[in-house]
Amino acid sequence: MSRLVFATNNQYKTNEVRTLLEGQYEVLNLTDIGCTTDIPETADTFAGNAELKSSFVSENFNLDCFADDSGLEVEALNNEPGIFSARYAGERGDAANMALVLRKMEGVTNRKARFRTVISLIRDKERFLFEGVIHGTLREAPAGTNGFGYDPIFEPEGYTHTFAEMELSQKNKISHRALAMQQLIAFLKSQAAEL
Ligand code: IMP
Repeated sequence: MSRLVFATNNQYKTNEVRTLLEGQYEVLNLTDIGCTTDIPETADTFAGNAELKSSFVSENFNLDCFADDSGLEVEALNNEPGIFSARYAGERGDAANMALVLRKMEGVTNRKARFRTVISLIRDKERFLFEGVIHGTLREAPAGTNGFGYDPIFEPEGYTHTFAEMELSQKNKISHRALAMQQLIAFLKSQAAEL
């Protein structure tokens, strides 16, 4: 069975992908391959940062690998926080990041926003990119306690609840990450079938 590294330390994400590819790929994460380096994410796009992570593993461990990078893009803020989503308000966490976005959006009528995930795959030294986007609007105040990050202020298009008010299982069917992951999985399955 082909081995594939997911360049993450997140066990939850690893298990999810492992289940989806069961019987077709052996999925390992950074811990599994003994990679303890804090891989720098110094690019200025999601794709660039995802590629930095997948390239690091491919070059240093000589293994096929994929990596993801995600964030929130707010139209009226020139697509900020974007690649700075995790640290928009410094190292003060999710509540501070959300508060900063809400403060910058005070009195702004265009509340369009989207979450984006880009996945970089390096397979047999060949590079592939997959992307998932979900459009929505920003609330004036946080609502809901599920999820993480900016979930309490993001209402996906076609819904009347924020991501943080939804069941995780529902969010995981429609989210940017789910959409990008579905494309990756479909690609990997088609490749495995050809082997
Ligand atoms: P990561 O690349 O998946 O680690 O995401 C980077 C940052 O983007 C997170 O720390 C969050 O602030 C934000 N983000 C990414 N995905 C989501 C999501 O599904 N909900 C809320 N915030 C998210």
